[in-house]
Amino acid sequence: MTDKIILYKSFYNPIEANIIRARLEDSGIPCFLVDENISTIQPLYNQAVGGVKLMVFEKDTLKIDSLLAENNDLVDNEDQFFTDKPVNDVKKKCEKCGSENVAFGQATKGRFSWWVTVISIMLLVYPFKVNKCFHCYDCGNEFQ
Ligand SMILES: [Zn+2]
Repeated sequence: MTDKIILYKSFYNPIEANIIRARLEDSGIPCFLVDENISTIQPLYNQAVGGVKLMVFEKDTLKIDSLLAENNDLVDNEDQFFTDKPVNDVKKKCEKCGSENVAFGQATKGRFSWWVTVISIMLLVYPFKVNKCFHCYDCGNEFQ
């Protein structure tokens, strides 16, 4: 284990690369991204290689492995997000006050770390993991 900087992983999706980078920085692990498209150091590698390289200290790789492993729910919930079905035709009542004046959508009580929110706003897209629930307009209750 040395202070050598190594390539941890190549990403073809720069969004994913930035999320991983933010997560590492959030955990105090130094790292940086190298955009292969602006790299002209190795002209033999053409643009077809593409992608973004995540560079880290070699001594941090084990820590990163376990950190990313325990946060696999980010990937797991992606399926759930894409298979969400419209529920407009479902009559749902507030569990607290019984009102039918409820709406289904993204929870206002966030479960996410700040970096997911920041990245989502930056990219103007939905977070990869959305905590959806019902929201009652009468009492403000939120429930699944
Ligand atoms: Zn209510």
